[in-house]
Amino acid sequence: MIKETKSGLEHFHTVTCQHLEPLYQELAHEQHPHTLFITCSDSRIDPQLLTGAKPGDMFTIRNIANIIPAPEDPYQDFTTLSAVEFAVEVLNVKQIIVCGHSNCGGCKAALDGAQAMEHLPYTRAYLKVLEPVRERVEKEAANHVHESKYRLMEQRNLIEQVNHLKDYEFIQKRVEEGKLEIEGWHYTIETGKIAVFDEEKDQFCTVF
Ligand SMILES: [Zn+2]
Repeated sequence: MIKETKSGLEHFHTVTCQHLEPLYQELAHEQHPHTLFITCSDSRIDPQLLTGAKPGDMFTIRNIANIIPAPEDPYQDFTTLSAVEFAVEVLNVKQIIVCGHSNCGGCKAALDGAQAMEHLPYTRAYLKVLEPVRERVEKEAANHVHESKYRLMEQRNLIEQVNHLKDYEFIQKRVEEGKLEIEGWHYTIETGKIAVFDEEKDQFCTVF
């Protein structure tokens, strides 16, 4: 164990655990999270810090570039899908937030193409599903002169992943019944700003 982790663990046991003991007692045998938070594995995103969530509030899925397989995708990623299914069907979360972010290495690699990942065979295979998004961004980029191509890729990827979620019947049903909301967020690391995708306006609106 490296020293940073050891001292963090020590602090957790001597300070945090004492402080949160009543909550942990309450959570000992069950969880009732209100949110499923799906985001990138990037170390700079801290969903709890960002939303003020306490232990037990959020079910979390993280992977490179916050990818959710489409129902018709032949390379189904059951790690992500089973977690989505469990959060919705068993835990009855009220909202799903898909959170992409600025300077996303996964989106950049997908946009730069396979040759940029020559030494990363697993990552290359994994990011292959973003190829249609990359093609659309390359075409669109000419009309977005003020926006960097990478940011456009992050935002288009986010919309794509939210749409994949909405394509699952069990999710559609809950949304139609008013039991589930889905939002796409783009988080800018250096400012902390959150832009939420507004489907009606077809644009990202900064809320904080
Ligand atoms: Zn990322």
